[in-house]
This record gives sequence, structure tokens and C-alpha cells, in this order.
Amino acid sequence: MNSLGIYIHVPFCGKKCAYCDFYSVAWTKAAAEGYIAAVLRNIRHYSDKSRYVDTIYFGGGTPSLLTAEQLRAILECIRSSFVVSADAEITMEANPCTLTAQKLSELHGIGINRLSVGVQSMSDAELKVLGRVHSAGRAEQAVLEAAEAGFDNISCDLMIALPDQDKESLRFSIERMTALPVQHISAYILKTENGTPFDCEEIRSRLPDEDSTAELYLEMAGLLEERGFMQYEVSNFAKKGYESRHNTRYWKCSDYLGIGPAAHSCYKGRRFAVERDLEGFINSEVQQITVTDESPCGFEEYAMLRLRLKEGLLLGDVPEHREEIMKKLPPLIKSGYAETDGERVWLTPKGFLMSNSVIGYLIFE
Ligand code: SF4
Repeated sequence: MNSLGIYIHVPFCGKKCAYCDFYSVAWTKAAAEGYIAAVLRNIRHYSDKSRYVDTIYFGGGTPSLLTAEQLRAILECIRSSFVVSADAEITMEANPCTLTAQKLSELHGIGINRLSVGVQSMSDAELKVLGRVHSAGRAEQAVLEAAEAGFDNISCDLMIALPDQDKESLRFSIERMTALPVQHISAYILKTENGTPFDCEEIRSRLPDEDSTAELYLEMAGLLEERGFMQYEVSNFAKKGYESRHNTRYWKCSDYLGIGPAAHSCYKGRRFAVERDLEGFINSEVQQITVTDESPCGFEEYAMLRLRLKEGLLLGDVPEHREEIMKKLPPLIKSGYAETDGERVWLTPKGFLMSNSVIGYLIFE
């Protein structure tokens, strides 16, 4: 039986953050109800008892704006439409402000067993610039209450290269975050997306330059590893055994099915995306998709994704490219960007930082 991951995109947010261009709209009770009905319809549409689902991921947006009852209905529908493995990893992204002790206990009770909390920073000043609605103290409380509710697989998001951020404020955030009962950290370099409030000179002039960003990234990777969070992907760090199983699907070209406006899929030999349109999603019998790739996971894509992982590219998987890759490696190894043991090729933290150019040179030149 083929395994499958299911991604549910929940397109609601309480307030738009200043840097974000993910697809999300304001939450209303009526829109949330229409959305849930459409999600259930679509899960039934894709129903396939020959697939066993071993990861489910509620992303967004802010999935924690949904009630435990609404999330339970989605999980039940997935269980009756696919075979869900008993130890499936079921993740929900959550905004600290939407979590209470009671809600956390309900979420744990319906089978969500991994939380990904959008903390971003442990500095109130930085959170304010980002336009986040929570404070560092609120985030801390949410994580502690999640652990008390029974969650033993908690991830926090951390953003680096923020306006005015320096090594000291980054170290402060990492120390405070890693003192919490968390097992996983996703650390992203801030990008100024076109059309967001961050897309302006006032913000750009306060961002660390390229060299300072590189220093912050390497500092972050070093500090996290010192604290037991091993880097397993360009932006992801985990204690042993807590690597995200769902996200690893993306980097290993494994099948995942996305449901909801703006969700992406790599499913049954095609990549496709759902339109960024909540109303259209609610009013269509089946979600409207655009096929973005008719034959995904060819050599270039496979190698590119594998090189995002610390595990790297297994040369035995691409025997016809082995010689060419090995020929290009020496200067990358000499400069500290990559390493090999003859069977695998993997990037170092310095290589991850330059991953686009390093991977481009290895795979496309
Ligand atoms: S809560 Fe997350 S998805 Fe929503 S606007 Fe903020 S960053 Fe974007």
C-alpha cells in the first residue's frame, strides 16, 4: 500500500502580519463553516482506501482559529476516506494567541499529536515590528500549556535577519526558546515579499546586509546544535527522532495531497495547486486546480530537494550522474560548502546558506 501525506490549508488569520504573503483572509463564522463543508467534500472526492496516510498537516493561515469540533470532523472524514496509520503524525500550526489550556487539551484529545507554534522571536520589540499579535510571554505560556496538555512534540518557528536584529538579540531568542519544552525549531530567513507592508525602504534600510545575515544564520545553526537541535534541513532543526515526518515528504519527493485554497500537491505523478480563492473553493463541488508539473521528481528536482537535507543526495539513486557530480565537488569541499563519503553528497551549514548557488552549480551547470 502506498503511503500518503495530507495537507489541509486553513486560509484564515485574525490579523495579517506585516511581512506575510501566504494566502489568508479574515475569519468569519460563516466563511469557516462554508470552508469546512468544502474540505469534507474534497476529502471524500479524493477518497482512496488503497492509500495509507501516515502524516496529516493543518497549515495556513491560522488553523488554530478552527474549533476542535471542526478539526475533529476533518480528521474523521480523512479516517473514513483513507487508511490512516495508528502512529500517524498529525500536526497543526498554531498562533499563540489562539491557544488556551482548555483548547490545547481538546486538540490533544482529538488526536493532534504535533504542534507547530508561530513564535518567530522572543523579543517583544521584534514581534511588534513583525506585526505579530502575541508577546514573547504569551508564546512561552502557550508552549508550556501545550506540554501540560500532553503535547510531547512541539515545534517553534524562529525568524532571522529581522529589522535591527543583531547576534545578541538572536542569541536571546534562541536561549529563551530552547529553554522551553520544544523538540523542533524551524528557522527562516525573513524575505521581503512584494506588495506586503515590509516591501518599503523604511524596513529594507533596517535589515541586516548579506554578510550580517550569513553571520546570523551560522550563529543560529551553531547555537541550536549546541542545545541539542541538530540541523536536518536548510531551515529545520530537531532533537533526535523529532524531525518533521510530513515536511520530509516534500524533500524526498513522496506523495502528498493538498486540500484548501492555495494548497499544493504532488499526487499520483502530478504537481498541482489549488486557486487562491476561498469563495471559489467553497462554491465548487471539487477544488479547482492548476497542474504545475506533469512529470515531477526528475533528476534535477530530486537532487535539488535531497540536497536541502543534511542526509544529502544518495549517489546510488542517480548512478548516471555520479561521475559528473564527483568531478564538480573538489572546489565545493575545499571552500567548506559540501562534503562526501563517496556514497552521499551533503551540504554543510555554510553550503546551506548558499544552497541556491551551490545546488545550481552541482546540478544545473
Ligand atoms: S499568522 Fe501566519 S499566515 Fe497569518 S498573516 Fe501572520 S504569518 Fe501570515
